[in-house]
Amino acid sequence: MKIHEYQARNLFRKYGIPVPEGVVCHTVDEVKQNVSDKDKLRVVKAQVHVGGRGKAGGVKLANTKAEAVEKAGQILGMDIKGITVEKVLVADAVDIEKEFYVGLINDRNTKSVTLMASAEGGVEIEEVAKVSPEKIIKMPIDPAMGLMPWQARKIAIQLFADPKEIRQCANILVKLYQLYVDTDSSLAEINPLVLTPDKQVLAIDGKMNFDDNALYRQKEILSMREADKDELKEIEANAKGLSYIKLDGNIGCMVNGAGLAMATMDMIKLYGGEPANFLDIGGSSNPQKVVDAMNILLSDQNVKSVMINIFGGITRCDDVARGLVIALDQIKTDVPIVIRLSGTNAKEGLEIIKQTGLPVVETMREAAQTAIELSKK
Ligand code: GDP
Ligand code: MN
Repeated sequence: MKIHEYQARNLFRKYGIPVPEGVVCHTVDEVKQNVSDKDKLRVVKAQVHVGGRGKAGGVKLANTKAEAVEKAGQILGMDIKGITVEKVLVADAVDIEKEFYVGLINDRNTKSVTLMASAEGGVEIEEVAKVSPEKIIKMPIDPAMGLMPWQARKIAIQLFADPKEIRQCANILVKLYQLYVDTDSSLAEINPLVLTPDKQVLAIDGKMNFDDNALYRQKEILSMREADKDELKEIEANAKGLSYIKLDGNIGCMVNGAGLAMATMDMIKLYGGEPANFLDIGGSSNPQKVVDAMNILLSDQNVKSVMINIFGGITRCDDVARGLVIALDQIKTDVPIVIRLSGTNAKEGLEIIKQTGLPVVETMREAAQTAIELSKK
């Protein structure tokens, strides 16, 4: 689960990480009403669940209140990477002497939470990571010990020279780690962490993601959920008993079983395609699930072909096939579909599937290749 920057800022504040004040507004009128009349430097920031807002024009400085109102008018309704901006944060801006990056992630290689930091923070951090990865310091954290103050100082010393600044930075790192662990976070980033001319170290951006599987014990975090269009689809799919994750490719996949769904995505990738989603319809032959799944898949405008990959086990292929036939009869679409059916009672299943007139193939390999070919037409 993702949260907006303003929500991350609230969590930072709660944990004692210094953040400038700000208000969230949904309309220009709200900006007029909720922002104080005092003219001072402010920053107006799109609140969307994607990075790179600055580069996309979603972060603008304003010298006066009138200017803040004007900038909010420009940003509200703006499209940033396919998401319409519905809220802006109008925050007190600060003068910046230098921008840093600090972040925590779950690192699969070291099997631990890893602290990352760089003296080259700001909007170019991805470029830094690509071109000069040595400029990003990484420190795995022992889960039993947590981030020890000396470790935080060891990192901070590499970013700052002045002892007072080092202390502020180390403090922030320890607090960020505590927040990360307490909230079952899977990503916590401050980019940029800034040094102001009067030597204050502050967080002026915040990004946090949370482990969906831990939300059952994170009531406060869950209550912060403000899902965007794609996330709503995932939530809706889950409510219907489907595991659906949207991805950026154009080959829709509908599969029974999580392992097979992963293998299907691998197979599509192997032949040069890009999966549009992960979708596990579970072990059921319930036609409604297939209809639901297809509707969710096809509502993604990027989907140019669909690969249905079913492996019968305890669930028999002929049952699944009957479900598919009923479902495909209800779904009206021009998007080409290829079906692969194998496992228990595959022969009977394939016989039933013939009625749909859709291309049926025997192996996953063929299914992936056919789906990729069809997606290009
Ligand atoms: P992002 O592009 O989505 O990561 O948005 P950020 O909040 O990180 O803002 C992008 C950039 O805008 C920062 O790296 C800063 O250079 C600049 N910026 C953001 N807030 C302020 C501010 O309060 N003062 C100044 N001077 N620049 C800011
Ligand atoms: Mn940022």
